Amino acid sequence: MRTVAVIGGGASGMMAALTAAEDAENRVVLFERQQRLGRKLLATGNGRCNLTNTAAAPAHYHGAEAAFVRPALEAFGVEETLDFFHGLGLLTVEEYGGRVYPLSNAANSVLDVLRFALAEAGVELRCGESVRELKRSGAGWMLAADGGALQADAVIVACGGCAGAKLGGVSDGYELLKPLGHKRTALYPALVQLLTAPEYPRALKGVRCPAALALMSGETVLAGSEGELQFTETGVSGPAVFDLSRAASTGGAGLRLRLRFLPLDEGALLGLLRERRERFPDLETGEVFTGMLHNRLGRMLVKASGCEAGKPLRALDEGALARLAAAALGFELPLRGTEDFDHAQVTAGGVRTAGFNPETLESWFVPGLFACGEVLDVDGDCGGFNLQWAWSSGRLAGRLGR
Ligand SMILES: Cc1cc2nc3c(=O)[nH]c(=O)nc-3n(C[C@H](O)[C@H](O)[C@H](O)COP(=O)(O)OP(=O)(O)OC[C@H]3O[C@@H](n4cnc5c(N)ncnc54)[C@H](O)[C@@H]3O)c2cc1C
Repeated sequence: MRTVAVIGGGASGMMAALTAAEDAENRVVLFERQQRLGRKLLATGNGRCNLTNTAAAPAHYHGAEAAFVRPALEAFGVEETLDFFHGLGLLTVEEYGGRVYPLSNAANSVLDVLRFALAEAGVELRCGESVRELKRSGAGWMLAADGGALQADAVIVACGGCAGAKLGGVSDGYELLKPLGHKRTALYPALVQLLTAPEYPRALKGVRCPAALALMSGETVLAGSEGELQFTETGVSGPAVFDLSRAASTGGAGLRLRLRFLPLDEGALLGLLRERRERFPDLETGEVFTGMLHNRLGRMLVKASGCEAGKPLRALDEGALARLAAAALGFELPLRGTEDFDHAQVTAGGVRTAGFNPETLESWFVPGLFACGEVLDVDGDCGGFNLQWAWSSGRLAGRLGR
C-alpha cells in the first residue's frame, strides 16, 4: 500500500484523488484548507458551472509553454470528461459557444457527484486543514498539516492559483513548491473586469450590448474579441471583455479599449442616420440611435460625439452625422487597468511548466511530486476551458506516472 497525498480539494485535486484511488494499491488522502471541498467550483459559471467547452484544444490555453497542455488534453479531453461525469450520473447540456453546463443549472450538481465518488472510492478527506510544509522524507514526503503530519509516498499539489481570493484562491501552491526548486512566473489576474475612465461606465451601469472589442496600444491592436459587453460601476465586464483581459493585464500602461457597437460599415451607418433625419426631422438628436442601440448607450454616444441631444435631427449637418457614426463604430475608453485577483476568475502565470513532465505532470527535479490545475502556468479562455484543464491535468497527475 502506498500513501498518496493530494493538496487542494478543488476541481483538479478532486479529479486527481479519484484517479489515484482507482488503483487499489493507493491509500489517498485529500487535504483541503477550507471547511468543505470545491467552494470555488460552486461559484463557477455564475453558480451554474460551465464545466467544459466542446472546443477545448491547446489553442485556447496560455502560458510560457503553449504545447504543455497537449498530452493532458489528449489523454483526457472533453469526450472523456463528459463520459466520466455522465458515469457519475451527472446530466449535462451544451449551450452557445460549446459551453457545457449541468442540466440542473446548478454547480452543486457537479460537486455533489464528485463528493459521492470520493466517498465511494474511500478517499480520506482532511477538510479544514492547510498543508503548511512539504518536504522530502526518506524516499517519500512529509506533509505538515494543521491536524498533524502525514508521511506520503507521492504528493499531488493541486492548490489552485490566487484568483477568486474570497473563494479560496491563495498562493500556497507556489510557496509549497518553491523550496523544492519549482519557481513561478509573474502572476496576473485574468478573466477579469477592465477598469476604465469613470465617467462613461457610470452613466451606462447595467447596460448590456453586443460589441466588437479591440485592445489598443497606440495604433497597435493587441487583442480583439466579440460578444456581450456589460457596463459596470467601474468599467466593463462580460465574456467579450474577459477574452481580452489577459492581454490587458499583461500589456502595460496606456491601453485603450476600442468599441464597435454596430456590425455596419461607416457608409451603411451614415445612410441609416441620413434616412432617420429625413423621416423624423423634428425628433430630438438624443433619439438618433433609438431602435439601433440600447437607449442609454445611444444617448451617451450622442453626447460623446459633441452633438446637442435636445436639438432636432434636421439641425444635424454631415459633419455631425460623421461624428455620430464614428462614435458608434469606434468609441474609445482609456483603461485604468484590471480588477484585482479577488475579482478575477483565473490566474495568468503560475509555477513554471518547464519543471514538470507534460506526459505525467511529475516534477523533473524530484520524483514522486506532481502538480495539476491552475497552480501551474496554464490559463484558458473564458467558456469552460479552465475547468477542462483542471479535469485533464488532475486526471493525468492522479495516474502518478503510470
Ligand atoms: C467566480 C469564478 C467563476 C469561474 N467560472 C468558471 C467556469 O464557469 N468555467 C471554467 O472553466 N472555469 C471557471 N473558473 C475558473 C476555475 O474555477 C478554476 O480555473 C479551477 O477551479 C481551478 O481548479 P484548481 O483545482 O486548480 O484550483 P481550485 O479550484 O482553486 O482549488 C484549489 C483548492 O486548494 C485548496 N488549497 C490551497 N492551498 C491549500 C493548502 N495549503 N492546503 C490545503 N488546501 C489548499 C483551496 O482552498 C482550493 O479549494 C471560475 C473561477 C472563479 C473564481
